Amino acid sequence: YNGGPTFAKGDHCLDCLIDVAHTVVCADSYRDRRKLMKEIAEDVLLAKCEDGAYYVSKAWLQQWVKRKNLDAPCEADAGPTMSIRCPHGHLMPEQAAGAKRLLVPEKLWLFFYEDAITVKPDDSSGCSTFPSDSEECPECSNTLSEVACLEDSRREMKLKQRQNHEKLATGKSIPLSSNCKYYLLPSSWLSKWRSYVTASSKHTSFMEPEILDGVINLLKCEKHSRLLERPPKVAYKRGSFFQKGSTTDRLTIITENDWKCFCEEWGGTEENGISAIIELCSSNDLAECCGGLPMCEQPLDLQNEVNNENESRQPVIRTCPEVCEECIGERESCELMQKLNYADEDIYVYLVRGKEAPKSILQASESSEPDRRTSKRSRRTNNGNLVNLRVSATTSIYQLKMMIWESLGVVKENQILHKGSRVIDQETATLADMNIFPGDRLWVKDSEIHEDRDIADELSDQKMNVENIEEGFRGTLLTANISSQVV
Ligand SMILES: [Zn+2]
Ligand SMILES: [Zn+2]
Ligand SMILES: [Zn+2]
Repeated sequence: YNGGPTFAKGDHCLDCLIDVAHTVVCADSYRDRRKLMKEIAEDVLLAKCEDGAYYVSKAWLQQWVKRKNLDAPCEADAGPTMSIRCPHGHLMPEQAAGAKRLLVPEKLWLFFYEDAITVKPDDSSGCSTFPSDSEECPECSNTLSEVACLEDSRREMKLKQRQNHEKLATGKSIPLSSNCKYYLLPSSWLSKWRSYVTASSKHTSFMEPEILDGVINLLKCEKHSRLLERPPKVAYKRGSFFQKGSTTDRLTIITENDWKCFCEEWGGTEENGISAIIELCSSNDLAECCGGLPMCEQPLDLQNEVNNENESRQPVIRTCPEVCEECIGERESCELMQKLNYADEDIYVYLVRGKEAPKSILQASESSEPDRRTSKRSRRTNNGNLVNLRVSATTSIYQLKMMIWESLGVVKENQILHKGSRVIDQETATLADMNIFPGDRLWVKDSEIHEDRDIADELSDQKMNVENIEEGFRGTLLTANISSQVV
């Protein structure tokens, strides 16, 4: 047959054999050359080289020396001057980040150059040649010194502000006296300012606190330009007053001097400030003094403070502009509405055996803010008596009781359900009606009055009565998807 050449044994293509042989020879000599060059490079790194003529990146050279000896240049061998070349194609000023460089002898440079070109034949930007007399890029030098200048002045400014507001910068509480003029600032702004002026990092411009005028304006209601926050409370201790919740209060009391300084430093208007004066009033006219203030909601607590701390004199903070109860009330009820509009959130129900609920549960369920620490603690000590239930604001108490029945095994009729010390028993009411929030911790007691029965009975009763169900009974167990799990 005559379809192409026929092969005999040992009939190799001579050209290919020669090619292969050449590669082997080259590899050998490349390896040797590279070994030699490595010795020179090590001298360069030890500053033992005196005939340096060309710049290469110091970091690149350090990596190159560390690489294993190879038979051919590798990808990483490209770019010996990549990081010391500026965007304009000149030598990058050495103070720029990552632009440290070293001089290498000519033969080493030529070796590097050849390898780089071999690895990346169509991109020589990584191996631009910089002889020892190359000048650093003037444009890049200018930019760098401007940045350095800016950093210097910023550092100085921060130092000055730390000195101007020594106490505030270190977060120390300021002893206050009565009938002295103070100012109020949002605590969030202050803590931002504090971390800004104490940060030593170069890249802090994004942390800069906002302009004070805007910050102060946000504290005033649009309608009456009165104060939209309640002033912090102060306590009397060893001859002075101190802000009580200085770490948690939304507003912080600062001195008049601090306020004036801040205005200059952060674009505030002195007359725009919210001033505060601590006044003392005896407990007799306390009611009058604090009329409408939240303090009066806790008369017992207040009474204790009065007795313990300053005989019959209680400090009251008077602000200018005054507190706008109207707008605060509006905002708070808005917030409450929002909080009571939830879906698919967890609440916790604890089955209490014995007479009283543990204090931790009473307290945890009394505060509307879910306390992560207590919830973790309880979860750890749980013995199958704690469940979390997925509920919505519109879930009815009946549904909730059915969930509790299902997960804790207490017949609906025997459940005495509590939030804090309050008993929750209106089955047609919703969780929102009962002020039950996501994360709330309820507790239930088993009255053990009624006999245990199967939850299926209740469910089938429900099914039979479905036509007679009143409006308020909409969304019972039949339509609800109960999901619960024992934690
Ligand atoms: Zn061939
Ligand atoms: Zn440049
Ligand atoms: Zn108002």
